[in-house]
Amino acid sequence: MSDLQIPKPVAPMVPRTLFNEDHEAFRATVRRFFETEIGPYHKKWETQQHLDRELWNKAGELGMLCPTMPEEYGGSGVDRLYSMIMMEEQARVGDSASGFSLHSDIVANYILNFGTEEQKQKWLPKMATGEVVGAIAMTEPGTGSDLQSIKTTAKPDGDDYVLNGSKIFITNGYLCDMVVVVVKTGDGEKGSENVSLLIVEADREGFTKGKPLEKVGMKGQDTCELFFNDVRVPKDNLLGQEGMGFIMLMKELAWERMMIAIICAAGAEFALATTVEYVKERKAFGKPIMAFQNTRFKLAELRSQVQIARVYVDRCMELVLENKLGPEAACAAKYWVSDLISEVVDECVQLHGGYGYMMEYPIARAYIDTRANRIYGGTNEIMKELISRSI
Ligand SMILES: Cc1cc2nc3c(=O)[nH]c(=O)nc-3n(C[C@H](O)[C@H](O)[C@H](O)COP(=O)(O)OP(=O)(O)OC[C@H]3O[C@@H](n4cnc5c(N)ncnc54)[C@H](O)[C@@H]3O)c2cc1C
Repeated sequence: MSDLQIPKPVAPMVPRTLFNEDHEAFRATVRRFFETEIGPYHKKWETQQHLDRELWNKAGELGMLCPTMPEEYGGSGVDRLYSMIMMEEQARVGDSASGFSLHSDIVANYILNFGTEEQKQKWLPKMATGEVVGAIAMTEPGTGSDLQSIKTTAKPDGDDYVLNGSKIFITNGYLCDMVVVVVKTGDGEKGSENVSLLIVEADREGFTKGKPLEKVGMKGQDTCELFFNDVRVPKDNLLGQEGMGFIMLMKELAWERMMIAIICAAGAEFALATTVEYVKERKAFGKPIMAFQNTRFKLAELRSQVQIARVYVDRCMELVLENKLGPEAACAAKYWVSDLISEVVDECVQLHGGYGYMMEYPIARAYIDTRANRIYGGTNEIMKELISRSI
């Protein structure tokens, strides 16, 4: 089988209403890119554990990086549906290697929302062209969910901070040219008031990257450990104000959680579509697997669940566009749709029989790739904790 298998989508039962002609024109460009530049080479990305660096520049040339950034900073000033399209088209080819969305829709947003004019001018245009790859480093070997307990410190020294510590599981970490690092700048009793964000260039002395980490799935995605050993960073690289890091991190969390729900909803549609094609082809006892009542009922259940997720995600997206998506609604989207995709993919593997366990089939890759969605972006347990607090 070829490395790129794009199934025909299962028709939605509830029509989508989010996109206009401009969005669809953008989708056509993005689709071509993923079909020709990313999808066919997925095995290569998995073997080397990251994309080819030039792909970032190609994506930039096509206007696919940072599209929502204002034009004066190199973006196209468009709405977040363009970001959604990027994520959906990535899922459509079963790609789990590219980290474009984290770069464009998380890292760039921090700089846009909290950066000085100088920082925005310095970083955003280069992020939009792909000249700079961005990452964000919060998690440490000793702490992830409990972000206030981070140990990486940035101590003032003249015009600089001196950075010491390490970060782990950092997406785009291996190829990054710049990373927004969550650091401790104080020793106050209230942990959240000690947290700040620093922009750190990858070529600073004392900053080293580990090899890409060997993951269960998402093997083509560049994920690595970062080490800071007496790294001098000018105070001008501080993002926002000292001690405001936690508040800045909270501001964009609803959107960041929505991003995972978007990826999972599109991924669940992909899993269903590829399975429908398979069960129509594959025969047992003289008839297609599709003809068994168990298969049809199972697919009816999956189609219904995937559709219900789609309607919720699209409605939340409307709220994103109106700037009205509440944090609990985003937490619910993140946890529920990432749980759903795990269940959907598991059932789809079962309907594939033994071939569902073979990596040449897209559903097998989906099986190992989708698991991480329940862990990153705030674990699903943390999502439930946050939802429950508002009851
Ligand atoms: C593929 C991948 C990419 C990632 N990319 C990035 C990245 O780019 N940048 C970055 O900073 N991080 C990244 N991460 C890290 C990710 O965000 C963390 O792994 C995640 O936040 C969980 O933290 P942890 O691993 O320390 O788990 P822990 O916090 O140690 O949690 C372990 C378990 O305890 C549970 N738990 C913890 N606290 C509570 C509580 N209060 N109530 C109930 N249960 C609780 C958790 O839900 C989990 O089940 C990535 C991770 C992966 C797997």
